[in-house]
Amino acid sequence: MADKRLFKILRFDPDSGRGPAFATFEVPWRKGQTVLDALNHIQGFIDGSLAYRSSCRAGVCGSCAMHINGKYRLACETQVALLCGTITIRPLGHLPIIKDLIVDMGPFWAKFKTVRPYLIAGDAAPERERIQSPADREHLTGIVDCILCAACYAGCPMTDSDPSYLGPAALAKANRFVVDTRDGHSEERLTIVGDEHGIFRCHTAFNCSDVCPKDIDPAGSIAHLKRMHLARKLGHYKQT
Ligand code: SF4
Repeated sequence: MADKRLFKILRFDPDSGRGPAFATFEVPWRKGQTVLDALNHIQGFIDGSLAYRSSCRAGVCGSCAMHINGKYRLACETQVALLCGTITIRPLGHLPIIKDLIVDMGPFWAKFKTVRPYLIAGDAAPERERIQSPADREHLTGIVDCILCAACYAGCPMTDSDPSYLGPAALAKANRFVVDTRDGHSEERLTIVGDEHGIFRCHTAFNCSDVCPKDIDPAGSIAHLKRMHLARKLGHYKQT
């Protein structure tokens, strides 16, 4: 392993009047170094004006998702040693750039809110808590771990061709509540996701499932919503 690595980073400052352009930085390599460590080195020792988001450094907050050597990944979880050649970094796609690697997440959050991403129980509040059996909880395994990093949204080709498309993260969240036995709002959710900018816009490219750092399968969730939506149309759907 070379003792230095080259990082080519797309830089853009809308206030500068100049268009986006790559800048290259040479960073000393050390064992265990992540891409986020390298960005911290660049900002701390080479160019303090480099802009990017990060927080937890543990793959939990989702704030450091970016395009690294051809794939959307979390910078804090990506080992430099596992990347080949010059490491090329771009911001998340399909979202307006605020500066360098920082994007405006507003459109992502607006779509996420559309599916009402919280439990809406259909019955009166219980005295203590809503009990769920282990078997019913099992339906949620693998789909509750979303950290809202927007990697799937950036990687989805449909969010580019239809700017109003709800996108994989919002649809996966809708499915998370459709399969939750405590939720009483599934019929309404299926109506929301079934419009022209919802589930049937998905062309099953599977990019979302491929890039998700939490191994969530948004494409599988969208397929499930399509089945439920059609079952409802045919009169076979029953609210859990
Ligand atoms: Fe990120 Fe995966 Fe959630 Fe998409 S589904 S926002 S890729 S954690």
